[in-house]
Amino acid sequence: MHLPKPLQSLKDSFESLPGIGPKTAERLTFHLLRVPQERLDTFADSVSALKQTKICKICKNVGEDEICEVCADPKRDKEKICVVESPLDVLALEKSGYNGLYHVLHGAINPIAGIGPEELFIEDLLSRIKKWGSTLSGTTPYELDKLEIILATNPDLEGEATAMYIKNKLEKCGSTLIRISRIGRGLPTGGDLEYADETTLKRAMEGRTSA
Ligand SMILES: [Zn+2]
Repeated sequence: MHLPKPLQSLKDSFESLPGIGPKTAERLTFHLLRVPQERLDTFADSVSALKQTKICKICKNVGEDEICEVCADPKRDKEKICVVESPLDVLALEKSGYNGLYHVLHGAINPIAGIGPEELFIEDLLSRIKKWGSTLSGTTPYELDKLEIILATNPDLEGEATAMYIKNKLEKCGSTLIRISRIGRGLPTGGDLEYADETTLKRAMEGRTSA
């Protein structure tokens, strides 16, 4: 038996998502068939509004404006930039009580998957750091040694390679004054930052070591 076209099309869309197999896709499709039209409309609206989100000009996190909530917040500690792989890591770190800024790379270096440094927002991080002094303090020159870059890429092969690459780049830029640290203690090796609980993340942040 063939599924009616609208159902088949929705099922295909679900199935294209990560972690969703044909059975789950079918279940979700038939579930939506039963929900009231109003809720279905809200659901459809949220999906189509997704592409209206913006990438923050400064930290590359996903937000609603050109400058995200975190970058625009004067109460954040602007002397810390935590470098993460994905916006989901930002969400996880926010729950851990971290109060500095972020830089979202949107991935990690992975030669097998064809992801090189140029596919990530690494150059943007470097130019952001170069501009850091002037944007932060206006006319007074700001000391680079006040800045800390926290490398919080995942503790797996790709994450470690990315952290190492950024560290070398920063050093080559002559930015020896910047403190570079690596989050890690307590985080399970090979795990994803976004799945770590708040306490583990808090500990990993507090126990960060010089990279
Ligand atoms: Zn931002």
